[in-house]
Amino acid sequence: MSSAAATQSLADIPTLTQVYRSAGRRQAASSTGDFPPSAAINARVGLVNGDITKLCVDALVNAANTSLSGGGGVDGAMHRAAGPGLLAECRLLRGCPTGEARITRGYRLPAKHVIHTAGPIYDHIDPQRSERLLRSCYEKSLELADACGVKSLAFSSISTGVYGYPSMDAAKVACETVRKYLDRGSSALERVVFVTFEQKGVAAYAEMLP
Ligand code: ADP
Repeated sequence: MSSAAATQSLADIPTLTQVYRSAGRRQAASSTGDFPPSAAINARVGLVNGDITKLCVDALVNAANTSLSGGGGVDGAMHRAAGPGLLAECRLLRGCPTGEARITRGYRLPAKHVIHTAGPIYDHIDPQRSERLLRSCYEKSLELADACGVKSLAFSSISTGVYGYPSMDAAKVACETVRKYLDRGSSALERVVFVTFEQKGVAAYAEMLP
C-alpha cells in the first residue's frame, strides 16, 4: 500500500458521537465529573488510535522538546514523514519553552501544519507543576491553532512517552482542557482529535470517555 493510500481523512476519524453510537449509547456518562455531557462537544471531538502522521487534518500537535531539534517518539515520526524542510523551519524558531507552542508548515505530511509544543518531563515530587505545564501545552496549542485559522487539529498524547507523564492523568488534563476551551464558545475549531498510539493511551481515553 502506498503511504498516500494509508492516510486518514477527517471523515475516517470517528467523532465521540460516533464512538458512543457504535457502543450503543447516546453520550458519555459525564465521567470527568465537572462537565455535563454535551452532544455539541461530542460532535466536535474525535478519537482515533494509530499513527498521527497519517492524518489529513489542518494541523497536528507534536510532542516536541524545547530545542525543536527533532527527537524520538512521535517527534521523530513527524520529522521522518515531513522531510528535512520541517527541521529547517524549526531551527529558525530558536526553541520553544516548556508549556508553550510554535507552528510550522507540514511539508510532506498530509497535514498542512505542525504545532510543536514542549511538554513537561513528569515530576513525581511536584506533580502539580507538571499538570500546570501540560495544561498550558494544550491551551497554547488550541489558541495558536485558532489564531492561524486551523479548523481541524489532532493532538498526540503529550508527555506520555519518554517524558513519563502517567497516561490516565494526562488524558484527564487533555480532555478537561479541550472541553473548557471549546465551552468558552469563541473557538472556530470544527474538530479536535485525540490520537492514541500505545495500548496505555487507548486504555486511558477509554477510561476518561467511557
Ligand atoms: P514525550 O517526550 O512528550 O513523552 P513521546 O513521543 O515519547 O513524547 O510520546 C508521546 C506520545 O506519543 C506517547 O503516548 C506515544 O505512544 C505516542 N506516539 C509515539 N509515536 C506516535 C505516532 N507515530 N503517532 C501517534 N502517537 C505516537
